[in-house]
Amino acid sequence: MLDVVIIGSGCAGNTAAIYAARANLKPLVVQGLEAGGQLSLTTLVENFPGFPEGINGPDLVENMKKQAQNFGAEYKYGALLDADLSKRPFRLTIEEDQIETRTLIVASGASARWLGLPSEQKLIGHGVSSCATCDGFFYRGRKIMVIGGGDSAMEEANFLSRFGSEVTLVHRRDQFRASKIMLDRARANPKVKFMLNTVVEEVLGVEANLVSGVRLRNLATGAAWRQDVDGFFVAIGHIPNTAVFRGQLETDADGYILSKGGARTNIPAVFHAGDVQDRTYRQAITASGAGCMAAIEAERFLEAEGH
Ligand code: NAP
Repeated sequence: MLDVVIIGSGCAGNTAAIYAARANLKPLVVQGLEAGGQLSLTTLVENFPGFPEGINGPDLVENMKKQAQNFGAEYKYGALLDADLSKRPFRLTIEEDQIETRTLIVASGASARWLGLPSEQKLIGHGVSSCATCDGFFYRGRKIMVIGGGDSAMEEANFLSRFGSEVTLVHRRDQFRASKIMLDRARANPKVKFMLNTVVEEVLGVEANLVSGVRLRNLATGAAWRQDVDGFFVAIGHIPNTAVFRGQLETDADGYILSKGGARTNIPAVFHAGDVQDRTYRQAITASGAGCMAAIEAERFLEAEGH
């Protein structure tokens, strides 16, 4: 029987682990399928306080993990496959193992959203990617397309312009969710070409198992055409990883956990931390702060029960 299990090993999960471990609760962190969370997919992080020169995302998250391990946190590979939160102790199925825990911190984050086209799904890893920092290098001197109109799309387009011969940013509207500074940066980048009011109807290259182009349609004029593309990067937001808790944890319509104040969920002894609940700030530092809050709440909950 464990005192605290933490689902997720991004900033939120790791920070919760540091705090819970320092409270002698010997937390178990279930790393999840995307170990290290979104920071492990980034390059330089310049806005995490304490690093005046910036720090690489993967290093930052690995440092957090080491810090938690130094205080006794355990890390387990694999994903949470099932959770019975109907009574305590909670029963968790992590790969082939069954685990019981008195409290649970859900820090499972959010995963990349895809367009959902069958051709896109078939070509993931063969020219279709959701991670510019992971895959941009492969498209040196090639034609790159980025989909989206938010900060992620602007950031990816700018980043990918270091590699590609050209970067076409395709957005379905002519208004942007991106912040002005990010949008201005992309607009000022001579290698980034904007294609607005445009949607992707098909990613081409399924037969050869390699992206060769896309079929596009302009929503304003109805015009459809084909464009050659080597690297197709989807940057249209994220989906919170809460499917395994469906019907137990209260979420909003998009699946983000509904907070009941502080780090509390609708189920006593289950706490939330990070992007799995936060659709507003979604920063490394806010996720870390949320992990700290969740661990303190778990500690106080256990203390009140006399553990
Ligand atoms: P986002 O702000 O939700 O933007 C998603 C974009 O994708 C929107 O432009 C949306 O179009 C488009 N989109 C969604 N579904 C689509 C579909 N099925 N087909 C075509 N287009 C689709 O997501 P985000 O850019 O990932 O940003 C998320 C959060 O992280 C934001 O708070 C952002 O500020 C933050 N962020 C910050 C930085 C930074 O500061 N360095 C970098 C990245 C992200 P519509 O506009 O038409 O809905």
